[in-house]
Amino acid sequence: MHDREPAADALPYAEVTDDGYAVRAAETFTVREFGPALLLSGDCPRCRHPVTFPVVDHVYRHGSAIPPGDPGYRTVLCTCDAEHPGRPAGPAGCGAYWTLRLEART
Ligand SMILES: [Zn+2]
Ligand SMILES: [Zn+2]
Repeated sequence: MHDREPAADALPYAEVTDDGYAVRAAETFTVREFGPALLLSGDCPRCRHPVTFPVVDHVYRHGSAIPPGDPGYRTVLCTCDAEHPGRPAGPAGCGAYWTLRLEART
């Protein structure tokens, strides 16, 4: 049986998460300002395809929306353009999701 060989190009779609995804994403993703938003980009920790997430919401705005001590955890999804067998119509990506910790800057 060879059903667990790593083969990123043929990775089947699966809605999964793993503690390691967040760790890897934190190490490899870059964040840059894009107007009023932030643009996170890097390789999906599951399928290794490049993905980009625009983050536009009140979490990053200065003001009352940020609860004290809230580091800004966000769940993000893989949004790669590559084909993943078994992917339902509509969603992009390989199905991987993980939590990203956003640090609001002053
Ligand atoms: Zn992918
Ligand atoms: Zn992926």
